[in-house]
Amino acid sequence: MVIGRRVLGESDRLVDFYTLEFGKVRGVAKGARRVRSRFGSALELFTLGELVFFDGGRSELVQVDHFDILAPFVGLREHLERLGQGAWAVELVGQLCADRDPHPALFRLLVRDLGALEASGRPAWTSVCFALRAVDLLGHRPRIDRCLGCGRSYPFADAALDIALGGLVCAQCATRADAWPVSGNAAGVLARLRKLRWDEALRLTLAPPLDREMVALVEWMIARLSGRSPRASRFLGQVRRPLARVAEPSAPPAER
Ligand SMILES: [Zn+2]
Repeated sequence: MVIGRRVLGESDRLVDFYTLEFGKVRGVAKGARRVRSRFGSALELFTLGELVFFDGGRSELVQVDHFDILAPFVGLREHLERLGQGAWAVELVGQLCADRDPHPALFRLLVRDLGALEASGRPAWTSVCFALRAVDLLGHRPRIDRCLGCGRSYPFADAALDIALGGLVCAQCATRADAWPVSGNAAGVLARLRKLRWDEALRLTLAPPLDREMVALVEWMIARLSGRSPRASRFLGQVRRPLARVAEPSAPPAER
């Protein structure tokens, strides 16, 4: 899967792939930017394909020989919110995975996520389901059964998520500024999503305020885990602002 690309020199392209067998691989596609490139349009973001590369072993970069399209996920490019969510998903994988560290379950999850996003009427929710599963697979599943500061059992009031500690903390223990408030309902959704199958999770509907809380919580979580705010989050912020204005003309600014 093409998860990132940039221009290299006059006619080449540097392409980040997330692969089933090798994990994250960065390759040089020689001549990919020429009009009559043998790669055609295969190296677009999100394209799933069969990659043949040459690894000389002397640098981190491999040489891309062939990339034959299996699924282009063109539906993502026809809708701004889906495009943004797809970009967020591949950026998440690019940020949270080390090079050459294969993770077949995460690869399959990413493919399923982009497939779901293509047809999703709720792309932000699809991303919540994807990101929480991805975080679990990568060993960052937050603990939601007790306060990781003092050990008291959840539920307690004013819970917050502390990523450095790896789970919920109570108000007394949340001394750092770096914790995100988690309502009882949101903690309930986190627990519930762990029990649901992928397709069941996608179908789960929440009241709009809780839905927004989950989206904000998960975006914050991923930004903290990757150590920076994903570029796609800024894009999504720009996409959402005008949409929010159309959808909720009377909502006070504090709710957004
Ligand atoms: Zn505590």
